Amino acid sequence: MTAAGRSRTPVAGSASIDWLDDQAAAFSGATTLEYYLNYAGLKDALSLAPIFRRHRSLFTRTTVDRVLRSKSKDPRLPNLREFVVDGYLEQAAGTVTEAIAGRETEDTVRWDRKRLPYRSVQQELTNEPDAVRRRDLDRRRLDVTAAQNELRERRWGLLNARTRDLGFRSYIELCERLGNLELSSLRDMMERFLWETEAAYRTRLSRELRGIGVDPAMAGRADLLRLFRSPQFDGSFPQDRMIGALQATLRGLGVDVDGQPNVILDTEDRPRKSPRAFCAPAQIPGEIYLVISPHGGHDDYRALFHEAGHAQHFAHIQGDQPFAYRGLGDNSVTEGFAFVLEHLLYSKPWLRRHLGMTASAQYLAFVNFHKLYFVRRYAAKLLYELELHADDQPRAYAKRYADLLTAHVGVRYSAGDYLADVDDGFYCARYLRAWIFEAQVRSVFVRRWGERWFAGREAGAALRELWGMGQRYSAVELLRHLDEPGLDIGPLTEELT
Ligand SMILES: [Zn+2]
Repeated sequence: MTAAGRSRTPVAGSASIDWLDDQAAAFSGATTLEYYLNYAGLKDALSLAPIFRRHRSLFTRTTVDRVLRSKSKDPRLPNLREFVVDGYLEQAAGTVTEAIAGRETEDTVRWDRKRLPYRSVQQELTNEPDAVRRRDLDRRRLDVTAAQNELRERRWGLLNARTRDLGFRSYIELCERLGNLELSSLRDMMERFLWETEAAYRTRLSRELRGIGVDPAMAGRADLLRLFRSPQFDGSFPQDRMIGALQATLRGLGVDVDGQPNVILDTEDRPRKSPRAFCAPAQIPGEIYLVISPHGGHDDYRALFHEAGHAQHFAHIQGDQPFAYRGLGDNSVTEGFAFVLEHLLYSKPWLRRHLGMTASAQYLAFVNFHKLYFVRRYAAKLLYELELHADDQPRAYAKRYADLLTAHVGVRYSAGDYLADVDDGFYCARYLRAWIFEAQVRSVFVRRWGERWFAGREAGAALRELWGMGQRYSAVELLRHLDEPGLDIGPLTEELT
């Protein structure tokens, strides 16, 4: 019998926290499994509404008020509180969110006397070699995005109204207080990072853009899609070695990949399967799906190793902990561990050992530049979102979006993307914290065990110990566990300049 059977109504004491923990586990397990089935191409419809209905008491205003007012010192409470409030907001905006997804699936963009599905334009832009045509297609995409923006504005209107109704001054305050994101110190760090990496980034960007025949002064967002596709490196990353390289790496870290029944590797070809690798932790740690359609190429390798990092993190979490520590908490932690494995693709000794790549200098310079672009883009997104969410007039910030992204990424961004490029809950901050965390964890490993740490049992044991804790501790607390002072952007800046 589950705790839900013992007590159906959430009350203020620890019984309610047990109830919440059980309900959160059941709800998350069911939604994750539904996502897995849909994205793996095993089930056509993604039907989340029945799951929300089954668990409706989790996200009622009564439950939200109780968790917000609770004075309980139970250490599970902060993670559960954030989960309940997120779910409450998500439900409040549910109909509009579905309408936006519906438009994104159904809308088309007129191109070459065809109608391209809106969501396939990104891929088309990546494959279009002609810069003039690329910008023309991106302008057409932007018109369609702009026509959808009324829905996105309505969605943020709803979220902002609920946020204030719950007693928070702004969405920033809500995310800051519930997610413990320390946004203002992160902003200071990222402003310094942008300043310190500016000159090197600009020089490299101009060189790379000229290399694909684009005048840097004319460059736009779509040109970067083309630039970073860089098929010239794909030959070194063959399809048939992907899984083998991953498994050999994990064995090197002391992970018994053959005796790991809780990680289910889904490599089967299905017509509706997502082309992009993903990880679905349906039960943590008992049922983790790692879904891939291995095509090969450097981008595909990085995606696989990233998702495998999530999968190994979830698969190693000690199962006797409450769900609040296994499936909730600071997602900078799981993103950080995903980056730890992904970053092996940036390691000269790893490339030599697992792919036999001896001349890796050009590739490494390129992927480090790509990463620098990514971190700068997310830093710019953070600066923008801190302005956008301080107010409840999103439309007034459209031009700020274009200005901040253009200034820090160095190519033209358009105001029309000012809401389509925003994730809920300051997820941009989770990624930034994860990049900082990962560079620090790796610098500790390199200091202790050298550049070839990935081939040694000691680093594997240290990683498994950290994985085992799940997300009971935040990225900052885990760093202190490694005798680091807390989040320090130094190692990341050093690596990227
Ligand atoms: Zn991830």
